[in-house]
Amino acid sequence: MNNQFQHDVAAVWENCLQVIKANVSEQSFKTWFEPIVPFRLAGKTLTIQVPSQFFYEWLEENYIHVLRRALDYAIGRDGQLEYSIIVDTGGDRQPPIKVHVPTTNSPEAAEARQKAAADPKRHTPPQPPKSPDTSEMDLFLNPNYSFDNYIEGDCNRLARSAGMAVAQRPGVTSFNPLLIYGGVGLGKTHLVQAIGNHIKGHYHDKFVVYVSSEKFTNQFINAIKSNTLQDFTDFYVKVDALILDDVQFLSGKEKTQDTFFHIFNHLHQSGKQIIMTSDRRPSELQGLQDRLLSRFKWGLTADLQQPDLETRIAIIQRKLQAEGIYIDAGVIEYVAHSVNTNVRELEGVIISLMAQASLVRRDIDLELAKNVLKNIVSAEEKEVTIDTIQEVVADYYDITIADLKSKSRKKELVYPRQVAMFFAKELTDLSLKSIGYHFGGRDHSTVIHAIQTISDLMEQEDAVKEAIQKIRSNFA
Ligand code: ADP
Ligand code: MG
Repeated sequence: MNNQFQHDVAAVWENCLQVIKANVSEQSFKTWFEPIVPFRLAGKTLTIQVPSQFFYEWLEENYIHVLRRALDYAIGRDGQLEYSIIVDTGGDRQPPIKVHVPTTNSPEAAEARQKAAADPKRHTPPQPPKSPDTSEMDLFLNPNYSFDNYIEGDCNRLARSAGMAVAQRPGVTSFNPLLIYGGVGLGKTHLVQAIGNHIKGHYHDKFVVYVSSEKFTNQFINAIKSNTLQDFTDFYVKVDALILDDVQFLSGKEKTQDTFFHIFNHLHQSGKQIIMTSDRRPSELQGLQDRLLSRFKWGLTADLQQPDLETRIAIIQRKLQAEGIYIDAGVIEYVAHSVNTNVRELEGVIISLMAQASLVRRDIDLELAKNVLKNIVSAEEKEVTIDTIQEVVADYYDITIADLKSKSRKKELVYPRQVAMFFAKELTDLSLKSIGYHFGGRDHSTVIHAIQTISDLMEQEDAVKEAIQKIRSNFA
């Protein structure tokens, strides 16, 4: 390769980076784009080198549009991208694996789309499905969601087993409709998709449809616009198992609800299975018609709770196993103790961890985990982390973080430790058990005692109250 080409590929990649930088967050840019090495430019094909297969998949899944835009800018509409993946098998560098950007994002496809949009005669609004085109609707079931990889815990036991019963005998059990509700990221979509996949896998003649309520609503609106409402309802009443995700979205949409009500009745009467999810319990679904809500009560309503520690650990282990990655149990425990909001966030942290490890080519250890968590929390929520609390309190009392975590019962350490635990309770949403874990593995009763002691002291002594306020000002 001569110098001229090397210069070209670097310059082209530099131009790509400009576009990418403007379109992704700083954290993502650092994690996913800085490590990329521009490798070769052959004609209009740019080859970039990425550190692992995982890395490549992640880029493809999450940044394909940004990459396309970057190529458009740096090379032109006919620019192509290839990856060269370094497969790391004990230092040996294997021949690069080349993969093309999928053709759905090719210049030809983009051009066709643009032409269609520009030509009013050719422009037709997206049509609702006209006939039960199984191949198309199957797309809405994601085969990655199964019961096998849906970890069972106290948080989801009822919902999971009801889901399993419905999956095994759709339309036959008394769980019809089955309504799963729970907060964001707790596994509603995963569970109902698993039900759909199970039915599809075991009853080949059953027509399973998964649709989000948003999509259902849009299909309905388009059907009205294009005068095809009859096609729309005809389609849905032919379904054997209808999965409607996030029904809270139908709130206030009277016409869509009317139509859904008819479809619901029709399906129910013909012994077809209906499965729904909602982000809140049915009694809190404002804006949904009473007649619809009362239908929901015909079947079973089951909730999903936040996973407890053991379930979180199991979910992480399962995820790592699926990715073929080994992480020390201590690190898993640390992550499980530190992220307790929902499963989606937990997965986000694991993915960042894997990315970072792949990036810096080192094992995932506690230090890496701490860094990743710090970045994520501070980048996304500006929430105070337990590490920050420990730093600030240790600093204030002029002791070390190790002192805070130590077993020592010396008064000059016990008091700051209690203060730090007090703030951990106030400023994070960690459980008492997890707070104890971060202070040298103390149990939850020690944490309760600490919080009580500091609260009492604040009422009794102005000096303590002032100190606490002073420390608190560091977290604002
Ligand atoms: P929701 O629809 O409730 O917002 P999702 O079903 O999208 O949540 O779940 C968020 C992520 O967490 C998904 O990647 C899902 O696979 C994962 N997840 C949730 N619950 C579990 C579980 N019990 N076991 C394994 N993975 C889970
Ligand atoms: Mg969902």
